[in-house]
Amino acid sequence: IAMSDSLTGAMTRRGWMEAVETQIARCRRNGQPSSIVLLDVDHFKRINDTHGHAVGDQALIAFAETCRHGLRDPDILGRCGGEEFSVTLPNTNREGALTLAERLRQKVQALVVPLPDGQDLRFTVSIGIAAYEPSGPAQPPTIADLQQQADKALYQAKHRGRNRVCA
Ligand code: GH3
Ligand code: MG
Ligand code: MG
Repeated sequence: IAMSDSLTGAMTRRGWMEAVETQIARCRRNGQPSSIVLLDVDHFKRINDTHGHAVGDQALIAFAETCRHGLRDPDILGRCGGEEFSVTLPNTNREGALTLAERLRQKVQALVVPLPDGQDLRFTVSIGIAAYEPSGPAQPPTIADLQQQADKALYQAKHRGRNRVCA
């Protein structure tokens, strides 16, 4: 239970961190690339402010479900904060991560959450990516390095107008 977020079913931050450590270490040993993807729902506070916290919760549930459907079996979805999620992509390089992230972005853009008053709620997501390539620097990045890089990319995606992917 401590490993799984009760609202969305994604892994908790702690569970995700443990899983990503194990996965990236394995990829490194096998000479495979790996990537991490950070996703942050755009203007989520507006959803809560306009429609209420319960609708915000429904949006988060639908968001996590949409992400899960777009992932492969070894990819792990974590909820690292309120409306912020992260995914590990083992054996996936920068190009592969970009392709997947763009697919997720489009799926979220197309997502419709029905509201109690019969209207439809739509929203978007901004995404930041960091990739580890075995052919890269001799001193491999730590998980914290990768997270920091992905976080920077996410900030860029927000800054450039949201609803986009940056790596
Ligand atoms: P940005 O596009 O820059 O990401 O803007 P934002 O509004 O998404 O970001 P901000 O960090 O300002 O707001 C996040 C909001 O998410 C604020 C917080 O109340 C809400 N939130 C966090 N956890 C939950 C939750 O479990 N349920 C609901 N309904 N809201 C949550
Ligand atoms: Mg946020
Ligand atoms: Mg946000």
